[in-house]
Amino acid sequence: MTDLELYDPFRSMQFSDLHCFLCGTTITTEQRTPVFGEWMQQNYNLQQKELLLLDKSITTFGQLTIPCCDHCHLNHIIPLEQEIEQAAEKGYEGIKELDPKKLFQWIGKMYYGTLVTELIREKDPLIMPQNPVSENTQMLGKFKAFYQVLQSLRVPMVFSDFMPCSLFILQVDPTEDYLPFEYQDELTTMAFSIKLGPVVIVCTLLDNGIISRALGRMYSLTEGKKLHPVQVAEFKARVFYAAYIFNVVPDYFIRPSKPGDKKLVLDTLIDDVTNEIFNPFEPLAYAHMLEEMLKPWNIREHEIMLENNQLLTFLTDENGNFKTITQFQK
Ligand SMILES: [Zn+2]
Repeated sequence: MTDLELYDPFRSMQFSDLHCFLCGTTITTEQRTPVFGEWMQQNYNLQQKELLLLDKSITTFGQLTIPCCDHCHLNHIIPLEQEIEQAAEKGYEGIKELDPKKLFQWIGKMYYGTLVTELIREKDPLIMPQNPVSENTQMLGKFKAFYQVLQSLRVPMVFSDFMPCSLFILQVDPTEDYLPFEYQDELTTMAFSIKLGPVVIVCTLLDNGIISRALGRMYSLTEGKKLHPVQVAEFKARVFYAAYIFNVVPDYFIRPSKPGDKKLVLDTLIDDVTNEIFNPFEPLAYAHMLEEMLKPWNIREHEIMLENNQLLTFLTDENGNFKTITQFQK
């Protein structure tokens, strides 16, 4: 395989423990890479922490590994994990300064790691999932598009004038923050969040930055502010809900390359003619999402849906300005 050639495991559904997840090379079952960086497992004591897979089986953060050849592991995964580790040591500023593309690749690897585990498990005749992801053509189309841009991890790639994802980086106020680590991803909507100490990264993985523009005003209100965990939860609900009503899948096109080219250039297109970008906002559906995120505070749907179609918010005051909350009072 030449340097600039992309790998497409979806064409023949080549998901097995005998193919590198990133380049497709044939490997042995011992050649694997952790989905969650070892530095992160150590810092946040994750080895034994349980993780629920889509088929409801339980694994741990430490056990979750994916097939990966030595070359990809050493040259692509390890350096990326090191870069993120060093940035994370510097806290919020460090993460903020990271190249967004690197953050996308890092988050994308964890997301895809969980997905590919699912796809490999579905090939096991003893596991008969009720709604196999591998038989959902619409989802597969989305995963395939995502996998193209994820390969920027391995193949030098320039995104012409876009970022495949939306990224939000939040700071948490320590006063009532009791969670050193938190992880959440949604396979179908591709919404993702991870908390590393006082920093929370929320990401929607395949929206070409549209959700970050839609929530841009809200996000700018949080900049330079420390959020109470309940505000982080609401922010996540807004992003996860936006991903839930996001209705389009970007197409990516590789510019024809010439001999001697060192990079692939990708262009993108979103079909907003036949499809609306977002399905309509439904207050009740959003309230459900928010209720779910607010579970630790036991705030129920009827407390979220207010009079005159207003919705409960902890992020802004009545004038729409950022609301500082240090201690939560219900
Ligand atoms: Zn490889």
